[in-house]
Amino acid sequence: MSREIPIAEGLFTWPAEQPALLGSRCNDCGVATFPQASSCMACSGENVSVEELPRRGKLWTWTVQRFMPKAPYDSGETMETFQPYGVGYVELPGGVRVEGRLTENDPSRLSIGMEMEVVFEPYRTQDNGDTVIGFFFRPVA
Ligand SMILES: [Zn+2]
Repeated sequence: MSREIPIAEGLFTWPAEQPALLGSRCNDCGVATFPQASSCMACSGENVSVEELPRRGKLWTWTVQRFMPKAPYDSGETMETFQPYGVGYVELPGGVRVEGRLTENDPSRLSIGMEMEVVFEPYRTQDNGDTVIGFFFRPVA
């Protein structure tokens, strides 16, 4: 039987009813980081807690990637099947900016400041049949 496995351990809750990205927040200075880290990027303190990040934020900057990505972003695509995709930073409430793929690759449908929500969808299929789940940002309709 094939399984659904997350693209990396500790990036988001999985499996879960309501999957969410996992970040770490510094208990000393309050700065949040994604992906989670064992020490604070701002003050180097190690008094950090892992927390689920908000699912919605605002598109901070974006671009459309028109070339095959290199590992570790290998999606299993070939030069023939590759489709340009949007990639961007989404600023979540609390100030943490998360880089991720966008579900949209049409520049006319993307604009800085628009509201985005995180979704968890198949990213690629492994040779053993397992589906790798990644996270994407989708414009909120
Ligand atoms: Zn800190």
